[in-house]
Amino acid sequence: MSNQDQTLIFEVSKEGRVGYSLPKLEIEELSLDELIPSAYIRSEQAELPEVSELDIMRHYTALSRRNHGVDSGFYPLGSCTMKYNPKINENVARIGGLAHIHPLQEEETVQGAMELLFDLQEHLKEITGMDEVTLQPAAGAHGEWTGLMMIRAYHEANNDTKRTKVIVPDSAHGTNPASATVAGFETITVKSDENGLVDLEDLKRVVNEETAALMLTNPNTLGLFEAHILEMAQIVHDAGGKLYYDGANLNAVLSQARPGDMGFDVVHLNLHKTFTGPHGGGGPGSGPVGVKEDLIAYLPKPVLVKTDEGYHFDYNRPESIGRVKPFYGNFGINVRAYTYIRSMGPDGLKAVTEYAVLNANYMMRRLAPYFDLPYDQHCKHEFVLSGKRQKKLGVRTLDIAKRLLDFGYHPPTIYFPLNVEECIMIEPTETESKETLDSFIDAMIQIAKEAEENPEIVQEAPHTTVIKRLDETTAARKPILKYQR
Ligand SMILES: *Cc1c(COP(=O)(O)O)cnc(C)c1O
Repeated sequence: MSNQDQTLIFEVSKEGRVGYSLPKLEIEELSLDELIPSAYIRSEQAELPEVSELDIMRHYTALSRRNHGVDSGFYPLGSCTMKYNPKINENVARIGGLAHIHPLQEEETVQGAMELLFDLQEHLKEITGMDEVTLQPAAGAHGEWTGLMMIRAYHEANNDTKRTKVIVPDSAHGTNPASATVAGFETITVKSDENGLVDLEDLKRVVNEETAALMLTNPNTLGLFEAHILEMAQIVHDAGGKLYYDGANLNAVLSQARPGDMGFDVVHLNLHKTFTGPHGGGGPGSGPVGVKEDLIAYLPKPVLVKTDEGYHFDYNRPESIGRVKPFYGNFGINVRAYTYIRSMGPDGLKAVTEYAVLNANYMMRRLAPYFDLPYDQHCKHEFVLSGKRQKKLGVRTLDIAKRLLDFGYHPPTIYFPLNVEECIMIEPTETESKETLDSFIDAMIQIAKEAEENPEIVQEAPHTTVIKRLDETTAARKPILKYQR
């Protein structure tokens, strides 16, 4: 971080300074009350900063340099798949025929865009092994909710209304129980065994005629592949429940295994993770949902269909759960995901998973001597360490995360999953080079040594950032978003 950044002056407004120059008005100037009803006219001038174009350019450029993104550095945020987003995606998303169309245009005039969406659905069906896909949901959690609403509609259509419970393992992503609750179900937690996998005996105990579905995050949030999926599918299906696959972590199984083949009835994907939609800062995302045959009738409408005359949005879907998103989902993210799938090809997608898993295992093995490894087994795309050993020395996982900022890294996910003490969850992704992985490993090893020899340096980190430790709760709960308080 340069000195210039350190001394960024936030307030640069100077009375009377303007950032534009317009030609002289050549028509008669109307007064405000002729243009806007008086009730809507503000009585005082808005207090806005008065700056030149250059002032504002420098201000935002300086602020942007304080940001960390995938394009500026390593970002091993577990469960978030912060991989590189190829710039070809951006080029395609900016093609005029895709970027400048309006969602209310006549179908005949946007056949190309509709073909792209249809083709994307076909690819996602192939990738997941499902029978039909909707692109409407705007994010992973939204996809979960959409899938659960379809499961609910299915049980209701079968007059099976006592199925009010959704089983969620304790190693599931946090959005799963939340989505189940929002969809009106009661969440039943099933425990993990000592290997970090769903405890089949516990599952048998909780499954019954009230089970609407089991929601499985696979690989689970410990980065482990649920080895007993087929048995689980059998147990839940035998009891009349449906199987939901949280496929946000598809980076770990892409082109290797398909949820549809494992017996799942519903799956959602995070196109903004596995399929390189840029994400962070709250969106936009895309969380398509795939379903098996017996749930197709409940898909959100309209459903995109292909006819002899071309592509068409079918609204005549009496059993549909309805629309879950205005228009047809986050189109721009779907374009990016489509571009990614087409430019990678089947072999490329297969290699993604091989490298993602290789990178995670490499990092896990090299870090294992320095941190506790609660589940000492082959991991998938991510793994969890525990900072227990460091905690005994007075260095918490939060301190380790903060110290990583001094090395220029975005910290991993910490304190999640909840079932691992002082959890550190690392997802390196496939797009990072061995040199980057090694540098990060070296930083982690140095921090482990500092914890033993010089704990203050870790406890007081970060030392190099403009702002030191934040009150993160207040920052999130009471953000100041206005120019002036
Ligand atoms: C990220 C993630 C989600 C939630 O996705 P959002 O797009 O953030 O709503 C759900 N499940 C898993 C396993 C995830 O990693």
